[in-house]
Amino acid sequence: MNKSTDNFLRFDESLLVKPGTKVNLDKYNTSYTSVFKDKDDAEDMLQKDIKRLSELQDILYASEKYSVLIIFQAMDAAGKDGTIKHVMTGVNPQGCEVTSFKQPTPEELSHDFLWRINKALPSKGKIGIFNRSHYEEVLVVRVHPEYLLAQNIPSIKSLDDVTEDFWKIRFEVINNFEKRLYENGTVIMKFFLNVSKAEQKKRFLERIAEPEKNWKFSPNDVKERQLWDKYMKAYEDAITHTSTEYAPWYIIPADKKWFMRAAVGDIITGTLESLGLQYPKLSSEAIQKINEARDQLLNEAHA
Ligand code: ATP
Ligand code: MG
Repeated sequence: MNKSTDNFLRFDESLLVKPGTKVNLDKYNTSYTSVFKDKDDAEDMLQKDIKRLSELQDILYASEKYSVLIIFQAMDAAGKDGTIKHVMTGVNPQGCEVTSFKQPTPEELSHDFLWRINKALPSKGKIGIFNRSHYEEVLVVRVHPEYLLAQNIPSIKSLDDVTEDFWKIRFEVINNFEKRLYENGTVIMKFFLNVSKAEQKKRFLERIAEPEKNWKFSPNDVKERQLWDKYMKAYEDAITHTSTEYAPWYIIPADKKWFMRAAVGDIITGTLESLGLQYPKLSSEAIQKINEARDQLLNEAHA
């Protein structure tokens, strides 16, 4: 396995959606596991990455130069929550915040769609994780264009106004937004956890069968599942138009949870590694002050 640090896709380039690629999800194998045979085979990389991520986060926090924004999008039961939980186990909660985006509130709807996203952005030195994101605006809203009517957009008076151009402009707005973040020091990674329709059914049935998992299931999830093909089209178009050098998409096979977690962990760790983060270096003046403080401590009479 190639583990060079100058390439953050250290084991498999095929997970990255290169800018300009027209995505066809039929061509992506949802149970692909790359160079790994099984869970045990990937465990070593996952544990090393988790440990290294915790070290890198410490430097990120201390150096206050970059923010890190990690976006998760997926169909229900693909494993967003579990992936976030596993990959971030070693991370210091002080420097990390997870935000889940649900159906917009009336207050959110009375602003433009990036308003609530802006408010949740990570500050310098921090890692922000979005469990769903502004991409819902070109995914669930694309599948249910009637949601747009609640947004009171001047150009959308009826569903007839929701044209292909409308979505193109939304992609452009999103790209510009992410470019702005990038130019100001935000490192963006976007993950689509790509589960198959068959695997989703299996996981739904488990959620229904096991009382401790019932809370994760909503009958509405099965209704949305009926719109699977429309969702896949929306994902394909969104990823095609918004995978950029400054905010790349990764399509992560999600049928094997162990692979999904190992892959996401390695991409995040590798990306942070590629920043060449360093602890802040103090000026000679500051070092002198620290030394004076040490001398003062050592010279205290009664302690
Ligand atoms: P998840 O399914 O992510 O694990 P959950 O089941 O706890 O979370 P849900 O009640 O399903 O939470 O909330 C997410 C729902 O909100 C999804 O159906 C999602 O598509 C919807 N949603 C998120 N953002 C928007 C948006 N901008 N417009 C409309 N619906 C949205
Ligand atoms: Mg849900």
